[in-house]
Amino acid sequence: PAPAPRQGGVQPVSAHRSHQHQTPADSPMSRQAPIPGIAAVIAVASGKGGVGKSTTAINLALGLRDLGLKVGLLDADIYGPSVPRLTGLQEKPQLTPEKKMIPLSRFGLSIMSIGFLVDEDSALVWRGPMVMSAINQMLRDVAWGTLDVLVVDMPPGTGDAQLTLAQNVPLKGAVIVSTPQDLSLIDARRGLAMFRKVNVPVLGIIENMSYFQCPECGTRSDIFGHGGARHEAERLGVPFLGEIPLHMDIRSTSDAGNPVVESEPHGPHATIYRTIAGAVRDQLKDAIAAA
Ligand code: ADP
Repeated sequence: PAPAPRQGGVQPVSAHRSHQHQTPADSPMSRQAPIPGIAAVIAVASGKGGVGKSTTAINLALGLRDLGLKVGLLDADIYGPSVPRLTGLQEKPQLTPEKKMIPLSRFGLSIMSIGFLVDEDSALVWRGPMVMSAINQMLRDVAWGTLDVLVVDMPPGTGDAQLTLAQNVPLKGAVIVSTPQDLSLIDARRGLAMFRKVNVPVLGIIENMSYFQCPECGTRSDIFGHGGARHEAERLGVPFLGEIPLHMDIRSTSDAGNPVVESEPHGPHATIYRTIAGAVRDQLKDAIAAA
């Protein structure tokens, strides 16, 4: 069938608030041009801020790298870009002669962040249409080269900005990060509903800060109650990708600009992230093989 006509620019969100059935040809997915050279773009999303979405995104990207894939990381969290902190990178990207931005390179990843382009303070004043045009530039006006996977660290939440993003980026799938608390799970459910609305497959849920692991003695405590995300994933019929403990080393390595998969590659946390990365990679195999 002929592709549905592209409805230029950002689509009104209200058009997708209805519960009309969408055929594949109607779906926003079919209107998005793929990004040349990138086999699969995936989103890492969360229902709210502070659940560890960015920490999970970079360690997942590093886990995918460890599986032998060529990986990029796009920090699209315009309200609070964390990638400069997580990587220690600060510099502004250079331009190619064709005026494309050259992503920064760190840990073997190609990295782009809105935090490289604007001061942290001005990142807070983005408005709706600017958000999408900034993110479109970071997707399409960047010399990404050839990538198997581009991991997009989404802005937290499931509001209009996130919905617009989800429907305008050619996503092969989305990973939802949640903590075990009920409230956060409710937010994760909203995230799931949002991606389903725009026909983006949910690759699974990751439970972050799943349990507390004492850095001194290794004892495990289920502070927030444990297993909620696994249960929820089963109930909703999406894969459960894994549990990441709340551990000092995950926080301290992230804040030091050297995430745990990079700084402690043989440690237990890196193993968990790589296992999750394997489950994500398996779901993207066809896209990666077809590229
Ligand atoms: P978000 O992107 O959801 O706002 P961040 O990834 O910035 O969250 O994480 C918020 C804070 O929690 C950071 O200080 C980070 O280092 C810490 N953090 C995230 N995940 C873990 C974890 N599993 N164990 C310990 N600290 C964590």
